[in-house]
Amino acid sequence: MDPDTIIELNHGAGGSLMDTFLASLLAIYKTKSVEGGIGADELDDGATISLSADTILIVSSDSHTIDPIFFPGGDLGKLAATGTINDVVMMGGKPIAITCALLIEEGTKYSIVEKILQSFAKTCEENGVAVIAGDTKVLPKGLVDSIYISTTGLGKRISPNVISDSNVQLGDKIIITGSPGMHGAALIAGREGINLQTELQSDVNPLADLLLPLVKEGAIHAMKDPTRGGLGSALNEFAEKSNVGLLLEEDKIPVKSEVNGVCELLGIDLFSLSSEGKAIMAVSADKAEEILQALKNHPLGHEAEIIGEASSKYQGKVVIQTSIGGHRLLRKPLGEPIPRVC
Ligand code: MG
Repeated sequence: MDPDTIIELNHGAGGSLMDTFLASLLAIYKTKSVEGGIGADELDDGATISLSADTILIVSSDSHTIDPIFFPGGDLGKLAATGTINDVVMMGGKPIAITCALLIEEGTKYSIVEKILQSFAKTCEENGVAVIAGDTKVLPKGLVDSIYISTTGLGKRISPNVISDSNVQLGDKIIITGSPGMHGAALIAGREGINLQTELQSDVNPLADLLLPLVKEGAIHAMKDPTRGGLGSALNEFAEKSNVGLLLEEDKIPVKSEVNGVCELLGIDLFSLSSEGKAIMAVSADKAEEILQALKNHPLGHEAEIIGEASSKYQGKVVIQTSIGGHRLLRKPLGEPIPRVC
């Protein structure tokens, strides 16, 4: 990148501008993976380190700077634990431990910090994740906004196969575990003061209980939680990294009417809005129905749908078949339409 480039919000928004930025940053490091494991260059949800023939460690790192720290459906503490747990799960890993580094603004009430950490602790506890290390810093007023949390999640791979963005196979079915964009839409609606008839809430939820029983079969080839940059970014990453075309049927995507409402009201692209409790996956065609049914039988997956498939047509691209029979290219969004969603 040009050394005079001024960093903009979109350089951190999970879209195409961030890709360029990250490529420049990653070029600074020489060694980015351990003995052929998945490393930083892959830009996957996490990294893998093979400790022995049957023990593969999953590592995933995250910073959480959401505004406001209490939002419809959740708070910073639940979000930080959830986001990290989900990234480990997306790699086929059972989360076992997490670290928690806090940056706190001078002047923040203790009760607020306590509430956020209790929520973080509860989410970890419910998912069998130990909080094994951390760091706490207090910064002068104005240098951070309220509280930021940085985490590293550790897990043990339980899938027999490598689950990675670059592993989508031709003919794989693409499954989404539920309605996309709810986290982003709930935050935008909250910030813009949009009053919807039904209350729109973030979908923030750990997916370990839903997905870990399913990864054991080896039929899930790729998996991703569409957080920053939404479904548009996540699907394009599958297509680009696996060098396949993804053909989706618009009608099959289970979109909530409240989310659609926010998008139409504010002119926002649904495919750029983040989720914090959904996953997309590429699954062997012969196992897709079975996995879909298992998802639908779980409260966190009851809206799951097969939304398309991987094809040799449109290599590296995502194409949506619209309800009226047309085709359109789903480009990777520039990024999440609003900052500080996670
Ligand atoms: Mg992720």
